[in-house]
Amino acid sequence: MTTAHPRGQAAPAALEVHNVHKWYGAHRVLDGIDLTVRPGEVTVIIGPSGSGKSTLLRVVNHLEKPEVGHVSVGGEPIGVKRHGGRLRELGERAILAQRSRIGFVFQNFNLFPHLTVLDNVAAAPVATGRLTGPAARDLARELLGRVGLGDKAAAYPRQLSGGQQQRVAIARALALRPGIILFDEPTSALDPELVGEVLAVIKDLASSGTTLVIVTHEIGFAREVADRVVFIDGGRIVEQGPPGQVLDSPRHERTRDFLGKVL
Ligand code: ADP
Ligand code: MG
Repeated sequence: MTTAHPRGQAAPAALEVHNVHKWYGAHRVLDGIDLTVRPGEVTVIIGPSGSGKSTLLRVVNHLEKPEVGHVSVGGEPIGVKRHGGRLRELGERAILAQRSRIGFVFQNFNLFPHLTVLDNVAAAPVATGRLTGPAARDLARELLGRVGLGDKAAAYPRQLSGGQQQRVAIARALALRPGIILFDEPTSALDPELVGEVLAVIKDLASSGTTLVIVTHEIGFAREVADRVVFIDGGRIVEQGPPGQVLDSPRHERTRDFLGKVL
Protein backbone atom coordinates (compact mmCIF):
# COMPACT_ATOMS: atom_id res chain seq x y z
CA MET A 1 0.00 0.00 0.00
CA THR A 2 1.43 3.38 -0.91
CA THR A 3 0.55 6.38 1.14
CA ALA A 4 -1.18 9.14 -0.78
CA HIS A 5 1.06 12.12 -1.30
CA PRO A 6 -0.01 15.59 -2.39
CA ARG A 7 0.91 16.83 -5.84
CA GLY A 8 4.42 18.23 -6.02
CA GLN A 9 5.60 16.29 -2.97
CA ALA A 10 8.04 13.46 -3.57
CA ALA A 11 6.73 9.92 -3.20
CA PRO A 12 7.89 8.33 0.05
CA ALA A 13 11.05 6.24 -0.05
CA ALA A 14 10.42 2.57 -0.76
CA LEU A 15 12.62 1.87 2.26
CA GLU A 16 14.07 4.14 4.89
CA VAL A 17 16.41 2.75 7.54
CA HIS A 18 17.35 5.35 10.11
CA ASN A 19 20.15 4.95 12.67
CA VAL A 20 19.44 1.27 13.30
CA HIS A 21 21.41 -0.45 16.06
CA LYS A 22 20.95 -4.09 16.95
CA TRP A 23 22.63 -6.11 19.70
CA TYR A 24 22.53 -9.77 20.53
CA GLY A 25 23.43 -9.70 24.21
CA ALA A 26 26.70 -7.78 24.38
CA HIS A 27 27.41 -8.37 20.69
CA ARG A 28 26.69 -5.33 18.53
CA VAL A 29 25.58 -6.57 15.12
CA LEU A 30 24.22 -3.38 13.52
CA ASP A 31 25.97 -0.19 14.47
CA GLY A 32 24.04 2.80 13.15
CA ILE A 33 22.71 1.86 9.71
CA ASP A 34 21.19 4.59 7.53
CA LEU A 35 19.85 3.55 4.16
CA THR A 36 17.31 5.01 1.75
CA VAL A 37 15.94 3.08 -1.22
CA ARG A 38 13.83 4.93 -3.77
CA PRO A 39 10.88 3.29 -5.53
CA GLY A 40 12.08 1.12 -8.41
CA GLU A 41 15.68 1.18 -7.24
CA VAL A 42 17.78 -2.00 -7.09
CA THR A 43 20.15 -2.06 -4.13
CA VAL A 44 22.74 -4.79 -3.77
CA ILE A 45 24.28 -5.33 -0.32
CA ILE A 46 27.68 -6.99 -0.13
CA GLY A 47 29.97 -7.67 2.80
CA PRO A 48 31.83 -10.38 4.70
CA SER A 49 30.11 -13.21 6.50
CA GLY A 50 28.89 -12.06 9.92
CA SER A 51 28.85 -8.37 8.96
CA GLY A 52 25.10 -8.01 9.70
CA LYS A 53 23.53 -8.29 6.22
CA SER A 54 20.89 -10.85 7.14
CA THR A 55 20.14 -9.06 10.38
CA LEU A 56 19.55 -5.85 8.46
CA LEU A 57 17.03 -7.55 6.16
CA ARG A 58 15.37 -9.18 9.17
CA VAL A 59 15.03 -5.81 10.89
CA VAL A 60 13.37 -4.39 7.77
CA ASN A 61 10.46 -6.80 7.95
CA HIS A 62 10.46 -6.89 11.74
CA LEU A 63 11.62 -10.45 12.18
CA GLU A 64 14.09 -8.67 14.47
CA LYS A 65 13.40 -5.53 16.44
CA PRO A 66 16.18 -2.91 16.52
CA GLU A 67 17.26 -1.61 19.93
CA VAL A 68 17.71 1.86 18.46
CA GLY A 69 16.47 3.47 15.25
CA HIS A 70 13.54 2.85 12.98
CA VAL A 71 12.50 1.55 9.59
CA SER A 72 9.79 2.74 7.20
CA VAL A 73 8.56 0.94 4.11
CA GLY A 74 6.64 3.02 1.58
CA GLY A 75 6.44 5.79 4.17
CA GLU A 76 4.88 3.52 6.80
CA PRO A 77 6.81 2.94 10.05
CA ILE A 78 7.47 -0.77 10.64
CA GLY A 79 6.44 -2.31 13.96
CA VAL A 80 5.20 0.93 15.48
CA LYS A 81 2.46 3.49 15.04
CA ARG A 82 1.97 7.05 16.14
CA HIS A 83 -0.48 7.40 18.94
CA GLY A 84 -1.06 10.84 20.45
CA GLY A 85 2.36 12.02 19.31
CA ARG A 86 4.13 8.96 20.75
CA LEU A 87 5.27 5.77 19.14
CA ARG A 88 3.52 2.60 20.24
CA GLU A 89 4.42 -0.95 19.33
CA LEU A 90 2.07 -2.62 16.90
CA GLY A 91 0.30 -5.84 17.80
CA GLU A 92 1.18 -9.15 16.19
CA ARG A 93 -1.66 -8.99 13.63
CA ALA A 94 -0.69 -5.54 12.42
CA ILE A 95 2.94 -6.64 12.14
CA LEU A 96 1.91 -9.67 10.08
CA ALA A 97 -0.10 -7.37 7.80
CA GLN A 98 2.95 -5.13 7.33
CA ARG A 99 5.20 -8.11 6.71
CA SER A 100 2.83 -9.34 4.01
CA ARG A 101 3.60 -6.19 2.01
CA ILE A 102 7.34 -6.90 2.05
CA GLY A 103 8.53 -9.81 -0.08
CA PHE A 104 11.29 -11.98 1.39
CA VAL A 105 13.25 -14.63 -0.51
CA PHE A 106 15.50 -16.79 1.67
CA GLN A 107 18.71 -18.61 0.93
CA ASN A 108 17.07 -21.99 1.53
CA PHE A 109 13.81 -21.37 -0.37
CA ASN A 110 11.60 -22.24 2.65
CA LEU A 111 8.78 -23.67 0.54
CA PHE A 112 5.95 -25.64 2.19
CA PRO A 113 6.96 -29.27 1.46
CA HIS A 114 3.42 -30.66 1.75
CA LEU A 115 1.89 -28.19 -0.75
CA THR A 116 2.08 -28.30 -4.52
CA VAL A 117 4.03 -25.60 -6.30
CA LEU A 118 0.74 -23.94 -7.27
CA ASP A 119 -0.52 -23.92 -3.68
CA ASN A 120 2.82 -22.67 -2.38
CA VAL A 121 2.31 -19.57 -4.51
CA ALA A 122 -1.47 -19.26 -3.94
CA ALA A 123 -1.43 -19.81 -0.14
CA ALA A 124 -0.55 -16.37 1.17
CA PRO A 125 -3.08 -14.30 -0.83
CA VAL A 126 -5.80 -16.64 0.48
CA ALA A 127 -4.49 -16.73 4.06
CA THR A 128 -4.35 -12.93 4.18
CA GLY A 129 -7.90 -12.68 2.83
CA ARG A 130 -6.86 -10.78 -0.28
CA LEU A 131 -8.03 -13.28 -2.87
CA THR A 132 -10.45 -16.19 -3.09
CA GLY A 133 -8.93 -19.62 -3.74
CA PRO A 134 -9.73 -19.64 -7.49
CA ALA A 135 -8.43 -16.08 -8.00
CA ALA A 136 -5.25 -16.89 -6.06
CA ARG A 137 -4.64 -19.99 -8.17
CA ASP A 138 -5.15 -17.97 -11.38
CA LEU A 139 -2.60 -15.46 -10.14
CA ALA A 140 -0.25 -18.31 -9.11
CA ARG A 141 -0.42 -19.80 -12.63
CA GLU A 142 0.38 -16.42 -14.14
CA LEU A 143 3.35 -15.91 -11.79
CA LEU A 144 4.68 -19.43 -12.34
CA GLY A 145 4.61 -18.67 -16.06
CA ARG A 146 6.57 -15.53 -15.39
CA VAL A 147 9.36 -17.45 -13.62
CA GLY A 148 9.35 -20.12 -16.35
CA LEU A 149 7.63 -22.86 -14.33
CA GLY A 150 4.18 -22.94 -15.89
CA ASP A 151 4.51 -26.69 -16.36
CA LYS A 152 5.39 -27.43 -12.70
CA ALA A 153 2.19 -26.26 -11.00
CA ALA A 154 1.19 -29.75 -9.83
CA ALA A 155 4.67 -30.80 -8.67
CA TYR A 156 5.85 -30.85 -5.06
CA PRO A 157 8.96 -28.91 -4.01
CA ARG A 158 11.04 -32.09 -3.48
CA GLN A 159 10.52 -32.96 -7.16
CA LEU A 160 12.21 -29.72 -8.28
CA SER A 161 15.84 -28.68 -8.55
CA GLY A 162 17.12 -26.02 -6.17
CA GLY A 163 16.98 -23.42 -8.93
CA GLN A 164 13.37 -24.27 -9.69
CA GLN A 165 12.47 -24.18 -5.99
CA GLN A 166 13.99 -20.75 -5.65
CA ARG A 167 12.01 -19.54 -8.67
CA VAL A 168 8.84 -20.82 -6.98
CA ALA A 169 9.87 -18.88 -3.86
CA ILE A 170 10.18 -15.74 -5.99
CA ALA A 171 6.71 -16.32 -7.51
CA ARG A 172 5.39 -16.81 -3.98
CA ALA A 173 6.88 -13.48 -2.89
CA LEU A 174 5.31 -11.76 -5.92
CA ALA A 175 1.86 -13.18 -5.12
CA LEU A 176 1.39 -10.63 -2.33
CA ARG A 177 2.24 -7.80 -4.75
CA PRO A 178 4.82 -6.39 -2.34
CA GLY A 179 6.11 -2.84 -2.65
CA ILE A 180 9.63 -4.15 -2.11
CA ILE A 181 11.31 -7.56 -2.22
CA LEU A 182 14.27 -8.51 -0.02
CA PHE A 183 16.59 -11.32 -1.15
CA ASP A 184 19.00 -12.92 1.31
CA GLU A 185 21.72 -14.70 -0.69
CA PRO A 186 19.16 -16.23 -3.06
CA THR A 187 21.73 -18.30 -4.96
CA SER A 188 24.14 -19.33 -2.19
CA ALA A 189 22.52 -22.73 -1.64
CA LEU A 190 22.48 -23.61 -5.35
CA ASP A 191 24.78 -25.75 -7.43
CA PRO A 192 26.77 -23.43 -9.72
CA GLU A 193 24.94 -24.49 -12.88
CA LEU A 194 21.59 -23.44 -11.35
CA VAL A 195 22.62 -19.96 -10.27
CA GLY A 196 22.07 -18.36 -13.69
CA GLU A 197 18.39 -19.26 -14.01
CA VAL A 198 17.58 -17.65 -10.66
CA LEU A 199 19.63 -14.53 -11.39
CA ALA A 200 17.82 -14.24 -14.75
CA VAL A 201 14.46 -14.12 -12.97
CA ILE A 202 15.71 -11.49 -10.53
CA LYS A 203 17.14 -9.50 -13.43
CA ASP A 204 13.73 -9.59 -15.10
CA LEU A 205 12.13 -8.20 -11.92
CA ALA A 206 14.77 -5.50 -11.75
CA SER A 207 14.10 -4.35 -15.30
CA SER A 208 10.34 -4.31 -14.69
CA GLY A 209 10.80 -1.63 -12.04
CA THR A 210 10.26 -3.69 -8.89
CA THR A 211 12.07 -2.29 -5.86
CA LEU A 212 14.66 -4.86 -4.80
CA VAL A 213 17.20 -5.18 -2.01
CA ILE A 214 19.52 -8.09 -2.67
CA VAL A 215 22.23 -9.52 -0.44
CA THR A 216 24.57 -11.50 -2.66
CA HIS A 217 28.18 -12.46 -3.29
CA GLU A 218 27.56 -12.51 -7.05
CA ILE A 219 29.64 -9.47 -7.90
CA GLY A 220 29.15 -9.72 -11.67
CA PHE A 221 25.41 -9.80 -11.16
CA ALA A 222 25.62 -6.78 -8.84
CA ARG A 223 27.48 -4.87 -11.52
CA GLU A 224 24.75 -5.67 -14.05
CA VAL A 225 21.56 -5.01 -12.06
CA ALA A 226 22.38 -2.71 -9.17
CA ASP A 227 21.57 0.97 -9.20
CA ARG A 228 23.53 1.10 -5.98
CA VAL A 229 25.95 -1.19 -4.18
CA VAL A 230 26.24 -0.99 -0.41
CA PHE A 231 29.27 -2.49 1.32
CA ILE A 232 28.70 -3.45 4.97
CA ASP A 233 31.39 -4.49 7.42
CA GLY A 234 31.13 -4.82 11.19
CA GLY A 235 27.51 -3.69 11.21
CA ARG A 236 28.25 -0.40 9.46
CA ILE A 237 27.91 0.85 5.92
CA VAL A 238 31.51 1.42 4.91
CA GLU A 239 30.67 2.82 1.48
CA GLN A 240 27.91 2.90 -1.07
CA GLY A 241 27.42 4.19 -4.57
CA PRO A 242 26.92 3.15 -8.20
CA PRO A 243 28.39 -0.29 -8.95
CA GLY A 244 31.08 1.19 -11.16
CA GLN A 245 32.35 3.21 -8.21
CA VAL A 246 32.09 0.74 -5.32
CA LEU A 247 33.12 -2.37 -7.26
CA ASP A 248 35.71 -0.93 -9.63
CA SER A 249 37.24 1.93 -7.68
CA PRO A 250 36.38 1.42 -4.01
CA ARG A 251 37.49 4.20 -1.70
CA HIS A 252 38.05 2.12 1.40
CA GLU A 253 40.73 -0.42 2.14
CA ARG A 254 38.14 -2.78 3.70
CA THR A 255 36.08 -2.75 0.51
CA ARG A 256 39.18 -3.46 -1.58
CA ASP A 257 40.13 -6.32 0.77
CA PHE A 258 36.69 -7.87 0.56
CA LEU A 259 36.44 -7.57 -3.22
CA GLY A 260 39.91 -9.06 -3.53
CA LYS A 261 38.61 -12.16 -1.74
CA VAL A 262 35.35 -12.66 -3.61
CA LEU A 263 36.28 -11.61 -7.15
P1 ADP B 1 25.68 -11.89 7.64
O1 ADP B 1 24.31 -12.13 7.08
O2 ADP B 1 26.32 -10.65 7.12
O3 ADP B 1 26.57 -13.08 7.48
P2 ADP B 1 24.29 -11.91 10.18
O4 ADP B 1 23.39 -10.74 10.14
O5 ADP B 1 23.69 -13.24 9.95
O6 ADP B 1 25.54 -11.65 9.20
O7 ADP B 1 25.01 -12.00 11.58
C1 ADP B 1 25.76 -10.94 12.12
C2 ADP B 1 26.29 -11.35 13.47
O8 ADP B 1 25.23 -11.53 14.37
C3 ADP B 1 27.07 -12.64 13.45
O9 ADP B 1 28.17 -12.50 14.32
C4 ADP B 1 26.09 -13.65 13.99
O10 ADP B 1 26.75 -14.69 14.63
C5 ADP B 1 25.27 -12.82 14.96
N1 ADP B 1 23.88 -13.29 15.08
C6 ADP B 1 22.98 -13.37 14.07
N2 ADP B 1 21.79 -13.79 14.53
C7 ADP B 1 21.94 -14.00 15.85
C8 ADP B 1 21.06 -14.44 16.89
N3 ADP B 1 19.77 -14.73 16.66
N4 ADP B 1 21.57 -14.52 18.14
C9 ADP B 1 22.86 -14.20 18.39
N5 ADP B 1 23.73 -13.76 17.47
C10 ADP B 1 23.29 -13.66 16.21
MG1 MG C 1 23.51 -13.73 6.02
